[in-house]
Parts: sequence; structure tokens; C-alpha cells
Amino acid sequence: MTIEEFRSETRAWLEQNCPAGMRTPMPDEERVWGGKAPVFKHPESKVWMERMVERGWTAPTWPREFGGGGLSHEQASVLTGEMRRLHCRPPLFSFGLGMLGPLLLDIGTQEQKQRYLPPIARGEIWWCQGYSEPGAGSDLANLQTRAEDQGDHYLVNGQKVWTSYAHQADWIFCLVRTDTTVKHAGISFLLFDMHSPGVEVRPIKLISGASAFCETFFDNVKVPKTQLIGEVNGGWAIAKQLLGHERAMISQLGARGAGRLPPLEDLARKFAGDENGRITDPVLRDSLARHLMNDRAFEQTSKRAMRGGDAGSGVASMLKYYGTEQNKRKLELLMKLAGSSGLGWSGEEFDDDELALCRYWLRSKGNSIEGGTSEVQLNVIAKRVLGLPD
Ligand SMILES: Cc1cc2nc3c(=O)[nH]c(=O)nc-3n(C[C@H](O)[C@H](O)[C@H](O)COP(=O)(O)OP(=O)(O)OC[C@H]3O[C@@H](n4cnc5c(N)ncnc54)[C@H](O)[C@@H]3O)c2cc1C
Repeated sequence: MTIEEFRSETRAWLEQNCPAGMRTPMPDEERVWGGKAPVFKHPESKVWMERMVERGWTAPTWPREFGGGGLSHEQASVLTGEMRRLHCRPPLFSFGLGMLGPLLLDIGTQEQKQRYLPPIARGEIWWCQGYSEPGAGSDLANLQTRAEDQGDHYLVNGQKVWTSYAHQADWIFCLVRTDTTVKHAGISFLLFDMHSPGVEVRPIKLISGASAFCETFFDNVKVPKTQLIGEVNGGWAIAKQLLGHERAMISQLGARGAGRLPPLEDLARKFAGDENGRITDPVLRDSLARHLMNDRAFEQTSKRAMRGGDAGSGVASMLKYYGTEQNKRKLELLMKLAGSSGLGWSGEEFDDDELALCRYWLRSKGNSIEGGTSEVQLNVIAKRVLGLPD
């Protein structure tokens, strides 16, 4: 099938199968995260997810045997473009799809791929990420959570922090220390059930009003050795590989038409347009045009970088740095366009867009921290891309 045939077939399928309610901007609370007890807040989100799962399009480029769609990167990019054109909501959000799954495809054993990938593609397990600790953020290799070898299993003890959605997750991919005498070479990568005895989760309230973060405590949690990924003490290279996938994923947060707020142009017209939708203030018009041009350039750069599935750490850091800073700039620009209407937190005098804008503006501040801060990305680019000394 040629790419143009694929495009028209995809377009027709989406037009027929994406329910009307799934072609509207999506409030955060209507996101579908799947899991063992999935919540579908919008009446049409279940059928939309099921249709996409059946086609393998929750994980378009994964092989069909693992629940994916078997698409090439070019076809997947066409699918993304067609979904944006129709304003289709992503059917499923998942750290399994964006982080763990791509990692297992790269380095998992056949048995691990068969065990973990199809439930991720079907949205049956909600995964969370246990990397950061109170003394291990940017200096991640300083992590102290220990996994002691007990023969056929490990006993895990310690604390993680900023574990997004730990209070709702079914399983965790977790960095643990299996050797205390060395730093980077003493880390391993474990998967385990968040409902295991000894796991305790305490949510942390955020400035945006949401509470997606948690402190996560492990007290003698028993983890079978079969749930170790890669070699014992070989977890640092795996951790970095997963970070590459995470950073590439986060870089696309602000992508045009990502489906949260209406597109920037529409909001600009609404907040600062005259009766014909023209932005009369020349400074705002100039800022908007510049932003949209940079967005377009970033979109093309991302596509080019991803075409070969390239999430190498230098490239992922460049995309993560620019994409998240650009998203923060977008929210700042929207706040300027909205004026005082952007500052509403509650009350009938503010409409849904305005209330959402204020929350997204606050939430965007975390974009350049999560998945590694902007400063850390600049360090990686300096060392690995530009070859500058430490
Ligand atoms: C929204 C959000 C979601 C998150 N979700 C998760 C999650 O699910 N799981 C998880 O494990 N973690 C998660 N995190 C944690 C995140 O990975 C860490 O916050 C991040 O790595 C920074 O670590 P830190 O907060 O300890 O800051 P620190 O490492 O203490 O950094 C503090 C400041 O110092 C700067 N700094 C530190 N070292 C250097 C250096 N060498 N050079 C230059 N500047 C430096 C940093 O850039 C930063 O500005 C999340 C964070 C956010 C904001």
C-alpha cells in the first residue's frame, strides 16, 4: 500500500470510528489511563479506546504480536497527522506506552515482551515510574532504595518521591540499589506490583490544584527475581535508555493540537481578536506569529529526528529541552493574550477555557523539571552532542 493509500484509508477509518465526543478538547479528568479498574469519565471514551486497541493503534509502531499496529514510522506519522486533523483525542495515556514499552521492545527478553507488552497496548495495567528520591533527582545515580538478594527474590526497602499517579498505578518500574559499594554500577531495574505488601503511597498536593504526585515507601517488599530487567547491577544504562523515551515523549507535550486547550490560534482570536478575529495589537500579533513559526519548525525537527525511531540521549535531550521550554512560552503568551481573564480559578465569570488556561499555565512550570530539568538537558547536550568537557 502506498503512503497516500494508507492516508486515505486511515482518514476514512477515523471519520467512521472516532465518536463525535472524542473530537473535542479534552479536560484532564477525562483522560483514559486504563489499568485494572479503568475509569471512563466521558461516555464515548471506552468505545474509542476499544476500537483503537483492536486496531493496534494505541501502540501504532509496535509489532502486532505484542498488541501494536505494526506500522512504519512514516505510517504512524500519517496516523498522528490525521488524528490531529480531526481533533481526535488520544485514546489512552500511559507511561507503559511512552516509556516502559519502547524500552522492553529494545532490551526485554521474548518472555518479558510477551508478558508485559500486550497488556500495555490494551491499557490493562497502569504503570508508574519510581526513579526520583529525596536525595536523587538530577543526581539520579545517588539513589538509595535497596534491593537485597534473598535467593529467588529481592527485598526492597526505601523511598521514592514525585512518583506521578502512584496512588492509582497497578505496577511500577523502579530503580533500586543492588550494590552499595559503587554508584552507577550498583543500580538495577525492577518491575513490581504496587499492591504488594509493604508498598505505601502518600499523595502530594500541587500548585495547580491536582494531586498527581506521591511519596512512595517500600518496607520489605518482596519482588520475584524474574521481574528484573536486564542484568543485576546493569540498571544505569537501562535507566538512561528509558529516560531517552521519556524525554522524547515529554517533548511533544505542547505539540500543536495536542488536544487539551483549543489550538493557540483559536484562543488568540477569542481573547485578543477584533470582530473579524484579527489580532489588532501589533506586539501580540508579532509574538503569536513567531511562536507559531517556531512551533512548526520544532514539529518538523521532531518528525525528522523520530523518523528512524531516534531517541538517542543527545537527540532526546534537545527535543525535551526545546519542546518543554516552548510549551512554557506558549502558556505565557496565552496568559498575555487572555489578560485578567486568564487569572480565574473558579466562578461563573470565567468560562471553561479560561479556567483551564490558568491550571495549564501553572502545570506547565513543571514541564522543564519532569524527566530531567532543562539545566540537566543542557549539560547532556554540551557533553554528548557538542563534545564539551565536564
Ligand atoms: C510534573 C512532574 C512529574 C514528575 N514525575 C515523576 C515520576 O513519575 N517519577 C519520578 O521518579 N520522578 C518524577 N518527577 C521528578 C523529576 O524527575 C525530578 O524533579 C527532576 O529530575 C529534578 O530533580 P529534583 O526535583 O530533585 O531537583 P534537583 O536535582 O534538586 O535540582 C534543583 C535545581 O538544581 C539544578 N541542578 C541540579 N544539578 C545540576 C547540574 N549538575 N547542573 C546544573 N543545574 C543543576 C536543577 O536544574 C534544578 O533547577 C517529576 C517531576 C515533576 C515536576
